[in-house]
Amino acid sequence: MALKKKLYINGEWIEAKSYTELKSPYSEEIIAEIPQATEEEVNQAIDAADRARETMRKMPAHQRAGILEKLVRLLESRVDEAARIIALEAAKPITTAREEVLRTIQTYKFAAEEAKRIHGETLPLDAAPGGENRIAYTVREPLGIIGAITPFNFPMNLVAHKLGPAIAAGNTIVLKPASQTPLSAFFIAELLEEAGLPKGALNVVTGSGRVVGEKLVTDDRIKVITFTGSPEVGIGIRNKAGLKRVTLELGSNAALIVDDGVDLNKVIPRSIKGAFSNQGQVCISLQRIYVHENLYDAFVEQFVAETKKLKTGDPLDPQTDVSALISKGDVERTLSWIEEAKQHGAIVATGGRAEGNVLIPTVLLNADKALKVSCQEVFAPIVLINKVKSVEEAIELVNDSRYGLQAGIYTNDVNTALNAAEKLHVGGVMINDIPTFRVDHMPYGGVKESGVGREGIKYAVEEMTEMKLVVFNRN
Ligand code: NAP
Repeated sequence: MALKKKLYINGEWIEAKSYTELKSPYSEEIIAEIPQATEEEVNQAIDAADRARETMRKMPAHQRAGILEKLVRLLESRVDEAARIIALEAAKPITTAREEVLRTIQTYKFAAEEAKRIHGETLPLDAAPGGENRIAYTVREPLGIIGAITPFNFPMNLVAHKLGPAIAAGNTIVLKPASQTPLSAFFIAELLEEAGLPKGALNVVTGSGRVVGEKLVTDDRIKVITFTGSPEVGIGIRNKAGLKRVTLELGSNAALIVDDGVDLNKVIPRSIKGAFSNQGQVCISLQRIYVHENLYDAFVEQFVAETKKLKTGDPLDPQTDVSALISKGDVERTLSWIEEAKQHGAIVATGGRAEGNVLIPTVLLNADKALKVSCQEVFAPIVLINKVKSVEEAIELVNDSRYGLQAGIYTNDVNTALNAAEKLHVGGVMINDIPTFRVDHMPYGGVKESGVGREGIKYAVEEMTEMKLVVFNRN
């Protein structure tokens, strides 16, 4: 009998009216039964978040920080269990799942610290004639209820990037995790309950994006939608959200430029990690590599040799580097994209096939920029390596994209690096690193179809609070 989960509403675990089976993406075994919330159940969750608003708004900063600190301690004591949950529901290889749990701990630590430094500023109003003899200052107030919608690929840490700043800023939350990865979200809700978060401050409702997501996006009591997921869904949300604040963390086809003369012993291991970690299902996964012609052959030879060493298989096996894609449909989609690339002249240097739901790590050479594997987000262990004559040419190719999340450049020349930093049209430029680099307090977000707004606790707190001005007239 599979584990039967419950909705988390107003601090209570509630049996839902309807359920669906959750299967492991790797073994396809049933691992749990998951509530499919109705619109009415989502409404109850929003009611609960609404009632808890005053409690959270009035809670002193040290207490908000204290709850987050307790959550950190609880999570630190249950790292292995948390990693196993991620590996089971997302097929994330267990060692990578463990890294995600450690990052989640970091994220909540940053949130606990940030809770204590949310402040405004004083303003010299006498800079304007008529502004004399007034004391002016700003404060940042919580916005109220945050609707958080999260994807499957970092089921614990991307939830943390929403719950952490929301709690730090004194908001309440209704969370809708991805249908494939609800267990990580329920696990964190249990820990937050134990950490002393007041009833109703966090509510977790699972179910289809269409029902649960739509209700969150269209209910007037919700003041902010913080969404991480695909551009298609994100753009739809933005169009329906009315006057709500909307933060969208969307996809990309992230690229790396490799300049002449760099040390491949440094570049190759990082690039392998960037391309294949979590089987390429990372929003800043390394999808396109543009290598200077003088280094191209050596780069390809070493990169392909290292790719072939990756071990594929069961996500629960600590030796596994690459496991199953999130769904059979994604395996079929990516195989058809590889087929399209082959038919249009791309060379499959390694991979290009699947074993069960595991797509074997794939390297494509000479892929045209109009192919799906190049211009769309592959979200799979597929990487393209193309030859360029100069960094300038590579910058143009990187920028020739609907997306702009992060980009990387390896170069020994400081002027080339600074020139690339200026010209690359992305949210973050990594010099001498892969575009996949992220630590959890840095400002993170994209341009173009990669989204709007920034995460990285301090920046998310800004998105989840409103500035209020106070002017005291002493005349
Ligand atoms: P997705 O299909 O867009 O789903 C994301 C979330 O939206 C899920 O909870 C989904 O629910 C929900 N949803 C679906 N339809 C909805 C609707 N009509 N209204 C409201 N919510 C709806 O994305 P995914 O496949 O889980 O994740 C992969 C995508 O996320 C990739 O594009 C990746 O690049 C992006 N991503 C971006 C970042 C970043 O920080 N920029 C980080 C990680 C991932 P269901 O699961 O029930 O459909």
